[in-house]
Amino acid sequence: MNLTGKQIIGNDLAGGGTNSFQAINPKNGEKLATAFLEATATEVEAAAVKATQAFQLYRGKSGAERARFLETIAAEIEALGPELIERCVSESGLPVGRIEGERGRTMGQLLLFAQFLREGSWVQATIDTAMPDRTPLPKPDIRSMQKALGPVLVFGASNFPLAFSVAGGDTVSALAAGCPVLVKAHPAHPGTCELIATAILNAAKKTNMPDGVFSMLHGGIAIGTSLVMRPEIKAIGFTGSYTGGKAIFDAAAGRAEPIPVYAEMGSVNPVFVLPGAIKDTADGIAQGFSNSVNLGVGQFCTNPGMLLLQRSAESNAFLNQVALEFAASAGGTMLTPGIQSAYSKRTAETKSLGGVSLLAEGKASEDFTGVTPALFYTNAAQLRENELLAEENFGPSSVIVQAEEKEDLLKIASELSGHLTATVFGTPEDLEAYQELLYILEQKAGRLIINAFPTGVEVTHAMVHGGPFPATTNASSTSVGTNAIYRFTRPVAYQGFSEALLPAELKDSNPLNITRKINGEWKGF
Ligand code: NAP
Repeated sequence: MNLTGKQIIGNDLAGGGTNSFQAINPKNGEKLATAFLEATATEVEAAAVKATQAFQLYRGKSGAERARFLETIAAEIEALGPELIERCVSESGLPVGRIEGERGRTMGQLLLFAQFLREGSWVQATIDTAMPDRTPLPKPDIRSMQKALGPVLVFGASNFPLAFSVAGGDTVSALAAGCPVLVKAHPAHPGTCELIATAILNAAKKTNMPDGVFSMLHGGIAIGTSLVMRPEIKAIGFTGSYTGGKAIFDAAAGRAEPIPVYAEMGSVNPVFVLPGAIKDTADGIAQGFSNSVNLGVGQFCTNPGMLLLQRSAESNAFLNQVALEFAASAGGTMLTPGIQSAYSKRTAETKSLGGVSLLAEGKASEDFTGVTPALFYTNAAQLRENELLAEENFGPSSVIVQAEEKEDLLKIASELSGHLTATVFGTPEDLEAYQELLYILEQKAGRLIINAFPTGVEVTHAMVHGGPFPATTNASSTSVGTNAIYRFTRPVAYQGFSEALLPAELKDSNPLNITRKINGEWKGF
């Protein structure tokens, strides 16, 4: 397929802009084919207006119709074949196996949401029947369910060019909810973005979805911000850095009409290794930790950026083991020159901090955006002293923090900010003795993990990929898994509606045969 480099405004292409950019291959710095035009203000407005018009039709599509749309998107992505894989590998520097796996995950996610829609109970249909004879006042019949919010603006991240980008978790959950989606393409992988956008549009046409149910624009911060400010946009899904997510959240707060901004941002993902685990399984944890930090050259939002333990003879030996494992690790290609220079700058700053030592360095990569893994060591006092140590360094780097004793470890835990994940390695006896740690961490992270590393996020119904600020701007949600749909819906109550007027989900006859809460009791399973 020939890439156009143009804006996709529903079923139309637009190319009125004069500024353009090209993607680069981060392995060698070469510019890749196709100049991508940045959107103009007129194009921003046209896409937003079209999304609003499409909403009036799309919100009326049944769950089964939307499910077919999502299934067809998955099929169209598969039909892109090797072209998608090749372009995505060239733009991201990520290996073929990883991108193929991510394509599978992206398609699997679409199919899971399709299944979720077909099952239907996600709408949370709730029925409180009337009590006309109640005194002193009769009780009316009230029924409620979740309904779509309106057009959703999506910003994807560079590190998952498929699964957290154009057809990623934000887009699929918004489309599933009944919301048209407007994507701001990520400038690190614009060709991948266009290929996926084409797959979505083909699917929309094949399944008779309204023109404007999906649009995608290219551009930098100015275009992104002007989209945020468009009054047609009713919610924002963002995946990326803290700086980007917070800037978008702040810009949205300046709108005349406030809207929810679900920014899933970076995280340090602390890993606690308790004394019994160090005695029993030090080798496995040391190797697993080094692998987890270096997985994907550390470019995962769940990368463990901090390991915490207590001082002991065994923990000193453990530190040596981790250092040996880490020294054997290989650096690799970062996604963009910007991410490479941010990592290198931040790693150099950490090296220069007093009270922090470089425990080990991996092997340098000679690629255009190549970096060297770096493992640091410090103590609890220095962690408090240097705020930088508690912030994400996006890449293959981590800090080991040694506390003096249990109370010190618990204090550090209670001082942590919000994270996507928190991990504890411990024997059954450790976990019994450190219950308070788990209690503290429950208040700090969206996902708690026992005896496994946090990298790898399953797409399931129960998954929580979120957490308190600064991991996200809204701790009551998840961006992965089917519960992500509730970011883009709101409850609507219907009072005094006849059987004919009620939505199918709320009719007495329950034509969709879904589970519902009737007068406080779940019925239908
Ligand atoms: P990024 O630099 O924040 O970019 C994400 C998107 O936001 C891009 O389209 C970017 O466009 C746009 N953007 C950034 N700053 C903006 C601003 N001030 N105003 C308007 N738009 C703005 O993120 P990234 O570097 O691609 O991704 C890596 C980061 O994502 C890491 O920190 C990682 O931990 C995090 N991440 C988090 C999750 C999660 O679920 N929590 C998942 C994956 C990755 P421009 O490039 O044109 O500015």
